[in-house]
Amino acid sequence: MAERKQYYLFANWKLHPARLAEARMLAGIAKKRANRCTQVLTVICPPAIFLAELAARYSSHRLSFGAQDCFFEERGAFTGEIAAQMITDVRGQYVLLGHSERRALGETDETVAKKLRAALAAGLTVVLCIGERERDEEGRYLAFLEGELRTALAGLSRQKLGKLIVAYEPIWAIGKGAESAMSAHEVHETSLFIRKVLRERYGEKAAFAVPILYGGSVAPENAATLVRDGEVQGLLVGHKSLDPRAFGEIMATLDASL
Ligand code: PEP
Repeated sequence: MAERKQYYLFANWKLHPARLAEARMLAGIAKKRANRCTQVLTVICPPAIFLAELAARYSSHRLSFGAQDCFFEERGAFTGEIAAQMITDVRGQYVLLGHSERRALGETDETVAKKLRAALAAGLTVVLCIGERERDEEGRYLAFLEGELRTALAGLSRQKLGKLIVAYEPIWAIGKGAESAMSAHEVHETSLFIRKVLRERYGEKAAFAVPILYGGSVAPENAATLVRDGEVQGLLVGHKSLDPRAFGEIMATLDASL
């Protein structure tokens, strides 16, 4: 088991909120609560257009910022894209890659792999998102997860693993109520499987140092159980991260769980 020094709590704001003023308000509340934590590092991934301002105003020792995606080229004729270096330049430290909502728009494992290399080269820490669309009794979803992981990491050296986090997000559990989240037991089983794939590829020591997160319908009522019994090193939270009360409770609950 990876040594637990802290939990990660990622907020994926997706395409919210509509206004910069609201983004400032949410980040300000999150900063106050995050700074009260001793065991949790919170990372907010807002829409890219808000990132520079929020990271400049609200970063702290317990609150960092990241992007929801980046491109694999540094510059050029790529309308609408954002380079990894641009994220670091405005104090973003993390990037989510391979989120299922990006994959649903056509992103392939190969594209994720190229983005991952570019992001690591720019000095970002990458949260590589993987997750099956559905579970089947025969366990084909495990081969699917392994494929996503192996393709994204193809050719990546062990030395680069220090800036890798894997987020396991079963697609069927995303965006619903707490009762739809995966059971902590299944989270644990799947995180062991992910760890096994990493171990086969990189050896015991390097594999065990990679934090694994769970995401999918995380709420105040299931956060502690998911991390403790699921034996993951943190959570990736979608819609509840836009509810300041719920997100504050998730933070406090994680902080008390370690
Ligand atoms: C997500 O989309 O990354 C996610 C975890 O969403 P939610 O918490 O809304 O299920």
